Amino acid sequence: MTPHATNWSGTLTFGARRVHAPTSLAELQEIVAATARIRALGTAHSFSTVADTTADLVSVAGLPATVEVDAAASTVTVSAGIRYGELARRLDGTGFALANLGSLPHIAVGGACATGTHGSGIANGNLASAVRAIELVTADGELRTLSRDADPDRFPGAVIALGALGVVVRLVLDVVPAFELRQVVYQNLPATELGSGALQDVLASAYSVSLFTRWGGPQIDQVWLKHRIGPGARFDSSPVTDDAAPFPSTWRGARLASSPMHPVPGMPTVSCTEQGGVPGPWHERLPHFRLEFTPSSGEEIQTEYLLPREHAADALAALGTIREAIAAALHVSEIRTVAADDLWLSPSYRRDSVAIHFTWRKDPDAVAAVLPAIEDLLAPYEPRPHWGKVFGISPEVVRARYPRADDFRRLASELDPHGKFRNDFVDRYLPPLPLP
Ligand SMILES: Cc1cc2nc3c(=O)[nH]c(=O)nc-3n(C[C@H](O)[C@H](O)[C@H](O)COP(=O)(O)OP(=O)(O)OC[C@H]3O[C@@H](n4cnc5c(N)ncnc54)[C@H](O)[C@@H]3O)c2cc1C
Repeated sequence: MTPHATNWSGTLTFGARRVHAPTSLAELQEIVAATARIRALGTAHSFSTVADTTADLVSVAGLPATVEVDAAASTVTVSAGIRYGELARRLDGTGFALANLGSLPHIAVGGACATGTHGSGIANGNLASAVRAIELVTADGELRTLSRDADPDRFPGAVIALGALGVVVRLVLDVVPAFELRQVVYQNLPATELGSGALQDVLASAYSVSLFTRWGGPQIDQVWLKHRIGPGARFDSSPVTDDAAPFPSTWRGARLASSPMHPVPGMPTVSCTEQGGVPGPWHERLPHFRLEFTPSSGEEIQTEYLLPREHAADALAALGTIREAIAAALHVSEIRTVAADDLWLSPSYRRDSVAIHFTWRKDPDAVAAVLPAIEDLLAPYEPRPHWGKVFGISPEVVRARYPRADDFRRLASELDPHGKFRNDFVDRYLPPLPLP
């Protein structure tokens, strides 16, 4: 990779002098030990400057790809540079699955976990919550392992770490028995279903639920339901109680889509995973987009805020007061849920959360103009922004929303005393603690 590489959407040109691409662990360890300031880069899908640096970047994508299942422990050990789509394909024949996936399979496991990437589902934690252990190369070039069981005091700070602790090379992830889902889309969910109680029912009506709106009116344009087949995933408010039953043509006033849908109207639906209630494996239904195609719009900027799920209806009603301003800069918004976890820098740390997402047009000025009003309206609900997306909330306010932020800052100073892995982003939001 050459310097002046950009992020996936081309909205950021990295300031890095060099981008290293080692092909072995030993080579990576040498590079890290010999370089004064360096940061890991995943698949560069972040929109914020979280991955950026004026020093060196290093990609672990060229290290040998690992996918090793331990059936007895219900884990899979994976190389950090592998993309979720590739991991899923290799996991498929083993009878195991990941409990959840993000909207796209294109992102690297290491990069996605480092920022708290999530899918949806009231009982599904973010992708990092499945991490049981990490192996990382720290500032001195040593390989260290931190695990949920052996390091309960530090591990919760080390998984979502924004690249600030070292270069993660392998992760041990929890797996579950492979499962199937049926995906359907309903259109035009009426505003009457968005009151507090009804909205909670809608969000809890399938294993994974995504609501899409373009803020053109008070209704939700599309409801994507990923209905898990088999035991253990029954939802009282689901449109179907029998796994084989056809989905009703109307549900809560919304109409069953008669043909495949893309979240952004007008975009080709061939890039989307199969809908229409056709059963399929977990990795072909949980993401919205297929690995072989460009996900989402491509020409975009993204923003997302996570806040306590019980405030979902009030937060959406508040945003509805500026719907025209939002719509003017927008491709589409998505509303999802994320179960609480214990990871210190997790946007869903100890809060069952609703995630309110905006896929903006690729117009940084228009995005910068609308964010302050959104953040003012959401402020009463103490939103935590997605680390990998664009936001404007001040560093002090962001930090105050993470009860364990200072513990993370201490951990970073301990593992990286000279700030080898820091960048402007980390310095702004999680600066080193002053010496006592
Ligand atoms: C089209 C699109 C759809 C998206 N959908 C979702 C979604 O459904 N849900 C969601 O939550 N987010 C979503 N995102 C955001 C995305 O998941 C995050 O930005 C994620 O961090 C991207 O992973 P990456 O590998 O590209 O990370 P990068 O952007 O490359 O890096 C992000 C951070 O991870 C660190 N990092 C990367 N690799 C390592 C490593 N090996 N060791 C240590 N640190 C590392 C970097 O230093 C940096 O701080 C989407 C983004 C796009 C472009």
